[in-house]
Amino acid sequence: MEFNKENTKDRLFADILLPLPLPRPFTYRIPDTEREKVNIGSRVIVQFGKKRILTGIIVKVHSIEPDVYEAKDIIEILDDAPSVNAFQLKLFEWMAEYYMCHPGEVLNAALPSGLKVSSESKIQLNPNFEDLEEKIPFADKELLIIEMLEKKEALTFDEVSLIVGKKSGSSLIKSLIKKNRIIVFEEVKEKFTPKIIKKVRLCPPYDQKGNMQELFIKLEKKPKQTDLLLKYIKLTGFLENPDKNTTGINKNLLIEESSLSPFTSLVKAGFFEEYEIVVSRFEEDDEESKYAEVRLSETQQSAKDSILEQFGEKEAVLLHGITGSGKTEIYIELIKNVLSGGSQVLYLLPEIALTTQIVQRLRKIFGDKMGIYHSKFSDNERVETWRGIISGRFSFVVGVRSSIFLPFDNLGLIIIDEEHETSYKQHDPAPRYHARDTALMLARMHHSKTLLGSATPSVESYFQAVNKKWGLVELTQRFGNAKLPQLIAVDVRKEKRDRKLHGDFTGLLTQQIEKSLHERNQVILFQNRRGYAPYISCEDCGHIPKCDNCAVSLTYHLYHKELRCHYCGSHESIPTRCEACGSNKIKTVGLGTEKIEDDIKLLFPDAVTQRMDLDTTRKKNSYQKIIEDFQNNKIDILVGTQMVTKGLDFDRVNLVGILDADSLIHFPDFRAHEKAFQTFTQVSGRAGRREKAGTVILQTSSINHPVIGKLLQQDYSGFFNTEISEREKFHYPPFYRLISITFKDPDAGIASKGADRLFGKLKYFIPKEQILGPEQPLINKIRNYYLEEIILKFERNKANLPAIKFKIKEAIEKVLAETAFKNSIIVCDVDPV
Ligand code: ADP
Ligand code: ZN
Ligand code: ZN
Repeated sequence: MEFNKENTKDRLFADILLPLPLPRPFTYRIPDTEREKVNIGSRVIVQFGKKRILTGIIVKVHSIEPDVYEAKDIIEILDDAPSVNAFQLKLFEWMAEYYMCHPGEVLNAALPSGLKVSSESKIQLNPNFEDLEEKIPFADKELLIIEMLEKKEALTFDEVSLIVGKKSGSSLIKSLIKKNRIIVFEEVKEKFTPKIIKKVRLCPPYDQKGNMQELFIKLEKKPKQTDLLLKYIKLTGFLENPDKNTTGINKNLLIEESSLSPFTSLVKAGFFEEYEIVVSRFEEDDEESKYAEVRLSETQQSAKDSILEQFGEKEAVLLHGITGSGKTEIYIELIKNVLSGGSQVLYLLPEIALTTQIVQRLRKIFGDKMGIYHSKFSDNERVETWRGIISGRFSFVVGVRSSIFLPFDNLGLIIIDEEHETSYKQHDPAPRYHARDTALMLARMHHSKTLLGSATPSVESYFQAVNKKWGLVELTQRFGNAKLPQLIAVDVRKEKRDRKLHGDFTGLLTQQIEKSLHERNQVILFQNRRGYAPYISCEDCGHIPKCDNCAVSLTYHLYHKELRCHYCGSHESIPTRCEACGSNKIKTVGLGTEKIEDDIKLLFPDAVTQRMDLDTTRKKNSYQKIIEDFQNNKIDILVGTQMVTKGLDFDRVNLVGILDADSLIHFPDFRAHEKAFQTFTQVSGRAGRREKAGTVILQTSSINHPVIGKLLQQDYSGFFNTEISEREKFHYPPFYRLISITFKDPDAGIASKGADRLFGKLKYFIPKEQILGPEQPLINKIRNYYLEEIILKFERNKANLPAIKFKIKEAIEKVLAETAFKNSIIVCDVDPV
């Protein structure tokens, strides 16, 4: 039923989607005063439960009073126009259903917290307090609070504590409430604060040049004010161009401490006026544009034409182009096309690849039409991007996975760069979504096209392309004269027998590093583990220290002199004696980036070595700083984890060393080979991106492993063919869809019992051979929760997954309702990665 807002006889209700794990929206009453502002997609403030103040979104307006609870009034409608549009609401719903979570959880992930209000308890004087003079005695400290409230109207609890001391603060507040002297209220604040600049300009009639003389006469004998006026005139260039007065001048530019009082006098006399303007947080690039117009090569041009042609009949095209083939320039040309047609473009990049390198390149081309959305952004910056899309200021956004949530209303193209990247998948908390798959759905809703790009496509995506569900374009040459690097695998076991190893470095690798340094080239060394050593072990009894909260060994961090858990972050000091047998013979086992950095500094003391991993890039700009230093040749050798493999483009890197290829290849996961192939190809791709070909040295103990073979030949399709037949044989994606269900409980026995219980219920509607487990995962305890895992497999396109997911949800709810499992948590992960 359509609803008539103007019909004032009806009581109006709104269903509000709240950012909470609730199965459905809640109904609130729309107060008459707010009627005019009601719009689907607008933000509202509501009270939820007894105390909580929340920001929700109007998803429906109607006149049906809820029958199970009494609808509370909406406190306020925050928006004049919707903050969330119909496309987004539809996407949230789809995500909740597909990823088996609640729409409120999706909303919570989607809305930048700057768009949510926060509330704070404050006190004020009770306006209805009856002054029965002297009847109620107040203590001195209570009087102090009352006195403050007479001056300041409201105080936060913290402010009260500051006045009367931390200890007595809350008891005094309680006592004053009891005596009816004060009341508590919740102050609701919007978190977004615009960036405001204070400005100054001349008031009429002195904004006219002709009236200047009159003003100076008035200021006779006021030398300080005259000086300030002269300063204003000089800084603005007012006499040459009186128009300059309209834009005024930044207040802090005009006045210093010493000139504050003459300034105040000038304002009071009505000569100057102060005003404020709201400005953008995204500073404009003042730098002169160094962007040289790029012309696509013939190969690039025909790739672009082919993409456009295939878009004619396919909603998605995969651009498989080797590293350095110039995919980015093709994206840029396509983006220009779509923008000039008046549609919006979203360019998705994995978290770590979104660095200054690419942003600067795009900024020069797209200027201030381009918005950025990054998790290292502040709330305020995120809100500015969000609102900038609604207002039309940004028609093009580069962003990380969460930018699929932005309020686009007219998408023409989504680009998913490095589409194979696993960081597109969100693990925790819900929604556990894959940004690539969600972006494809988003594109479909907008009738937009999707371009996926990678040098090493995911097996799932390449499968879509070779099966002609998507289009496919392949680029097999590097741009210009650049050659792909030569890959050499070195047998670590043989080098050991021949006594050629220098610690963890083979003879060949050390030799090549020396050569590179001698030629003044740069080197990248890759190891997929941070810390010094994955663990330490007692030489006498073999004891390995483990985390108390998680079933994993603690990683040895030399720099911080700590043992750290990489799962829960807990840490302890390095023991001098074995906690099991008391022996002092403790050795480190295995190889982390810290150890490589250490060893390299010993082997090549004259080279500048820098490490890049999670531990050296925690600060806001540290990642960028390392990249810039490397780019400016301030670093000779860069040692790092997968961070060094991602999309970086350097001129002088001609050697890449992969220290230990085996740990990735033999990782116990069905995607291990894929991941190894991708990672090694990507890190190799950093070498020799200009005229001179580079070299990649891969150290391994599995020299005859098929993945290594395909890698040396740089044979992606050979790799794909082997991999896809394995996937088919063992019933893995893309032939089967997986849902992983993890049962968590602080008690190991209950976790096991609960998982069995759930298994018992799933068995009724899922054939037994499609249910794996329950089983303890490799790491069976994390943050003091014991884990049991069930994996469900469904043949693609055969099972009615929406219906099955619904039944799984029901089964989970039933199990969780049992008192035995009151502390348990069940996590569903659809298409786990
Ligand atoms: P990919 O993203 O495929 O790894 P890039 O787009 O980074 O490759 O291109 C590799 C290098 O070649 C970059 O330095 C880029 O500036 C340069 N390049 C690519 N296409 C052109 C072109 N048409 N004209 C000039 N330089 C180009
Ligand atoms: Zn021991
Ligand atoms: Zn831990």
